[in-house]
Amino acid sequence: MAVSLGDFIVSEVNVGVFVVGRDHRLQLWNRFMAHHSGISSEDAIGHSLFELFPDLPQKWLAKKIDSVFVLKNSAFTSWEQRPYLFRFAHNRPITGGIDYMRQNFTFMPVKNDAGEIEAVAVTLIDATDSAIYQMMMHTAMQKLEESSNRDGLTGVFNRRYVDMRLHDEIQRIDRYHVDPFSVLLFDLDHFKKINDTYGHVAGDEVLREVARRAQAVLREPDVFGRYGGEEFVLILPQTDLSGAYAAAERIRFEIAADTVASGDERITVTASIGVAQYQPGVTSAEKILSMADEALYASKHGGRNRVTVYSPQQPVTP
Ligand code: GH3
Ligand code: MG
Ligand code: MG
Repeated sequence: MAVSLGDFIVSEVNVGVFVVGRDHRLQLWNRFMAHHSGISSEDAIGHSLFELFPDLPQKWLAKKIDSVFVLKNSAFTSWEQRPYLFRFAHNRPITGGIDYMRQNFTFMPVKNDAGEIEAVAVTLIDATDSAIYQMMMHTAMQKLEESSNRDGLTGVFNRRYVDMRLHDEIQRIDRYHVDPFSVLLFDLDHFKKINDTYGHVAGDEVLREVARRAQAVLREPDVFGRYGGEEFVLILPQTDLSGAYAAAERIRFEIAADTVASGDERITVTASIGVAQYQPGVTSAEKILSMADEALYASKHGGRNRVTVYSPQQPVTP
């Protein structure tokens, strides 16, 4: 018997096609379905879909199929709602993090000559490429967002990000009345001289090493960033002035503890630090930064390589 063009297309098209009756027994099972399931159409037709595939979400899928009989309308489901129904392998690299073929389904009513619905025809489209593309986009966006928060030279956060986190921290305190935080600003001493003596490349190496040394002191919630040329900022959540002072002393010590190696040179580097505590209702983001800056200025004037804590009357070096 000659095969009709329609039958030929349904059989050979690179889309899954199958037909189920009210009893969920298969009436048609095309080559795509046979190839991916390993079950031939001879073995499939006449058998219950759910007996052949015990892994299928039976309750959900039976309801979906039955609703087509009742509502007499087509129904759809996409991989974004439900990644797959059949556990079919896909032929993409397994590094994509996708376990089984992603699948879009259409469920269509099949009517007889009297206009009654006799069966439901289901098409399965392989949506794995879309899923991989979407995951790659997502990863790229995340990386882009992450890199836009970072300082290119040292890899610590940049000013834009620290400012954002500072505003977040202030909002958090004003709203939830959690313990106040402190801000620490430090600036390398006579850095111009380091550049002049050892060159800009060595100066950059010093900046990277200083960032590394300071980071070694941080706790998990701390936000540390490069605020400008050779100026760094640290937000210390839930930390009062004495805690911030202790952190500042540790950072000052770590920076000065050893020379920084650049080629054959051994470069001595120190930092001056200013510390201030946020006072709810009194301080703004700009204000706490200027308070820390004022304290930093006092450290410079006091002889450098020291920590100053801001006090409302006058900055003091403990
Ligand atoms: P003080 O102890 O008063 O802070 O003196 P200072 O020399 O550190 O201060 P000043 O602000 O005069 O100099 C900062 C220098 O930092 C000037 C600038 O050339 C240098 N600088 C800024 N950004 C970078 C950078 O990305 N790399 C290098 N190598 N140097 C930088
Ligand atoms: Mg400086
Ligand atoms: Mg400076």
